[in-house]
Amino acid sequence: MSSLADLPIRDDLRGLTPYGAPELKVAVQLNVNENTHPIPEDVARSIIEALARELLSVNRYPDREFLALRDSLARYLGGGLTRDNVWAANGSNEILQQILQAFGGPGRSVLGFPPTYSMHPIIAAGTGTEWIAGVRDTEYEISPATAVDWIERTSPDLVFFCSPNNPTGTALSLETIAAAYNATPGIVVVDEAYAEFGHSEQPTALSLLEGRERLIVTRTMSKAFAFAGARLGYLAADPAISDALRLVRLPYHLSSLTQAAAVAALAHAPEMLAMVDDIKKQRDRIEVTLRELGYHPYPSASNFVLFGGVPDAHRLFEQLLERDIIIRDLGIEGHLRVSAGTEAETTAFLRAMSELTEAR
Ligand code: PMP
Repeated sequence: MSSLADLPIRDDLRGLTPYGAPELKVAVQLNVNENTHPIPEDVARSIIEALARELLSVNRYPDREFLALRDSLARYLGGGLTRDNVWAANGSNEILQQILQAFGGPGRSVLGFPPTYSMHPIIAAGTGTEWIAGVRDTEYEISPATAVDWIERTSPDLVFFCSPNNPTGTALSLETIAAAYNATPGIVVVDEAYAEFGHSEQPTALSLLEGRERLIVTRTMSKAFAFAGARLGYLAADPAISDALRLVRLPYHLSSLTQAAAVAALAHAPEMLAMVDDIKKQRDRIEVTLRELGYHPYPSASNFVLFGGVPDAHRLFEQLLERDIIIRDLGIEGHLRVSAGTEAETTAFLRAMSELTEAR
């Protein structure tokens, strides 16, 4: 048996580590920012009916342009967007990969601002795009001046923002995105995987799309829609962006079953999103309780909370695991991240935190 090191792998992939959230089966799983609520049963039934109908023609390739799905996604986003503004793939990870395949690649670079979604630099590496790590302001914010400064200093081909940012929960101001856009001739991507969990007063980058043909807003059905297993991510942008992605996508990349399931789920959007308010409540509860316990939770516009002030993050992670609760150790010293679960899961986590903190 040979090892990875023995293979004639690309030099730029040598020594890299793959995406690595542990896949442990524990009772309370709050480690990968999933929506821990199952989808409503009547919606599941309507998805099954759609899948059953679709199966009868599964001998044929799917609609390569997934028109019905793009119509449904545009309707869901609103704001005058049409199918021409929308593109979809198997998770927003694949969307980001297609963007880097089309606009990045060898000799090109993408600027991001760690700590941020760990797949951004990994997808950059996979597509041979140089990853430039910008530095955030205090409390993980990015001011317009900071964004512009990094763009002017590094001249990236793409800029990746994440708002609300994973793993910090920080919402990015529209001023920062607009200033970054004006400072670069390149592509600006705003990864809004968690947009639906934002505070109501926070407008999304969708409102900036008009007149900005190099701006891309990526979204996913994995989080608020509780559809992570179905793998459906999408973007909103100028129609020319989809034309660019058509050059790199694999033919028929979205299976007819995926398309049918997503269309059926989107037809029940209000029901699918009914849990979002409860998840936000649990997130706020986590913030308040962790602060009372003496930790430093960062304000979150998402379905997770990053908290600092942990004397030994890895030990606390292990102690929670012993209690059948898994959260995320991202390797940020003194910090851990927890996803907001159901009320019962959140209570289990907060109770364990309270006991472990007292016993310290
Ligand atoms: N963007 C961010 C910020 C994420 O946190 C995630 C998943 N954790 C994704 C994109 C990818 O999600 P998916 O591929 O399931 O759409």
